[in-house]
Amino acid sequence: MEDTKKKRKKEKQPKPKYNALQNSLYMIRLAWKHERSILFHAVTAVILYVTSELIDLYLAPSVISAVESKVPLKTLILTIAAFVGSSLVLQAIRSYISGFQGYSRITLRSVMVALRNEKACDTSYINRLKTDFQDKMNRSGWSLGNNRASGEAIWNTLVSLLQQFLGLMSMYAILSLVDVRLVVIIIICATLSFCVDKWVYAYEDRHRDEFSALNQKLSYIGWIERDHIIAKDVRIFGLANWLEELYHRAFGAMLSLRRKQNLVFFISDMTGLVLTFLRNGLAYAFLIKLVLDDGLSASLFLLYFNAVGKSAWWARSILSSFNELDRHSRNISVYREFLEYDEPYKFENGDPIPSAESHTITLENVSFTYPESDVPVLKNIDLTLKTGDKLAVVGLNGAGKTTLIKMISGLLDPTEGRVLLDGTDIRELNRREYYKMFSAVFQSFTLLPQTVAQNVSQALDGYDIDRVKDCIAKAGLSEKIESLPNGYETLLNREMYEDAAEFSGGETQRLMLARALYKDSPFLLLDEPTAALDPIAESDIYQKYNSMTESKGAVFISHRLASTRFCDSIILLDNNVVLERGSHDELMAKRGRYFELFSVQSKYYSEGSVKDEKEES
Ligand code: ADP
Repeated sequence: MEDTKKKRKKEKQPKPKYNALQNSLYMIRLAWKHERSILFHAVTAVILYVTSELIDLYLAPSVISAVESKVPLKTLILTIAAFVGSSLVLQAIRSYISGFQGYSRITLRSVMVALRNEKACDTSYINRLKTDFQDKMNRSGWSLGNNRASGEAIWNTLVSLLQQFLGLMSMYAILSLVDVRLVVIIIICATLSFCVDKWVYAYEDRHRDEFSALNQKLSYIGWIERDHIIAKDVRIFGLANWLEELYHRAFGAMLSLRRKQNLVFFISDMTGLVLTFLRNGLAYAFLIKLVLDDGLSASLFLLYFNAVGKSAWWARSILSSFNELDRHSRNISVYREFLEYDEPYKFENGDPIPSAESHTITLENVSFTYPESDVPVLKNIDLTLKTGDKLAVVGLNGAGKTTLIKMISGLLDPTEGRVLLDGTDIRELNRREYYKMFSAVFQSFTLLPQTVAQNVSQALDGYDIDRVKDCIAKAGLSEKIESLPNGYETLLNREMYEDAAEFSGGETQRLMLARALYKDSPFLLLDEPTAALDPIAESDIYQKYNSMTESKGAVFISHRLASTRFCDSIILLDNNVVLERGSHDELMAKRGRYFELFSVQSKYYSEGSVKDEKEES
């Protein structure tokens, strides 16, 4: 039981890979690379802060000293004016800088956001299927959401820490002029106070999960008691007493935790009081002795005494800043772990794609099991696809057709066997270049909130408008586009733009065809982009794709066998393996599983009903 508790806690708070110092240096390096003004602002803010604190510290003692020395009134006024004036000027410069530092910090945070998005877009596709990657991707956003998120707020913490540290050191330097022993006593008191505070913070940290679990439990029981749906069961099964008992037990546990926590707070407060008393008492004793023995002036007495107070305050603030830094550091560590997530595929470090007139893709005894699963989805697949080939992959839903397409296109690597491009294992090739060999249209496709021309060319600018028009014409959509007021510049996506055009399913299909034609890659992959259309429309569109891509290698996927019967070669996936392969006529003549499925489906379609088609498959 205790073990499970510990394990759960461990799972909740995985140990960060990088510590606070490493993460602070990382942020400084990032700022140095992208937004140096952050560092300039930070250093300036620290210098100005410490200077104005010193001015404040010296103000009263200097005025008293001037009065003690009976300086002329004019000198006294000038002294006060000099202190107050310089304090005001420093304050003004600090406000001016803090206005600017916000912009540079936001700019750096946006660079961090861009790096995160880039990783999400460019990472090896298999990573996107791993829970651990997904989890790191989500948690890496904690550093970036707003101004208070760690990616930006860490600068405030670092600046505060530096200010507190320099402030503390300057107080120790001033006090060491009195007696080094005084500094030693103050440091000992501060260290003890630091340890007690740390103990309290650690205690709170350890019990935070316990508190929130109990709170959750209490509010859940309360909710059950009030919920009107469960009200019937509460009465019929006499659950009221049982719920009350549960509530009291949870409440009792919460009270007991609170009592313990209060005791911890009390001990810490008492220790703090004793230490303050000790520190101030000893400092007083030291300073009074100096007044009596060495005739220490009232102004210096005041200066040193204030320095003792300030040093104690800064020492305490440093601890809370360290705790804050620790929180930011954990978030930034997750962010870095996400960016550094291992890439199993080769990209720029891979070999270039061999240039050739035509290409051959070979799947050699390929098997595949998804991450975090034990069940193979594909087993021992052998396949060859050449430029110009038309291959159909058919099978029922869940047979592994999409997985096969992902294997061919290099989105996934086989867990066994190899995928070869012109004889070279694609694991050795630059995967980004390999992706360029494919135009693909998947079941769920995206029209970006850009213009028609930008969507077809997949470029924001610099596209060839004549080619865009040509591809749209080939896809049979010219009339529709040209009838729109803004023609090829018409925006898509009504959610983003009020005047955006709305396309029907079939028209969107044609736009996707135009996009695939524009890309003009050697291979075209069609993964049931037409599944939402009726079988006849699907068959028509597949024929259209076929006639438009004669010189290309194409893979047509469908669970509707009639749509792909024009292909030279058809493979039927069933139960994770290629069960049958051949042309439509060969497979029909074989009177096997393909024949069986085709017969069932054609009977079904000829009866004119497509509604329950999914059930059929
Ligand atoms: P098809 O395209 O033939 O409908 P898929 O290739 O999409 O089949 O899926 C084949 C099998 O792989 C299905 O059982 C599906 O549940 C499983 N599968 C698909 N994606 C994942 C995934 N990311 N993780 C685990 N299993 C998956």
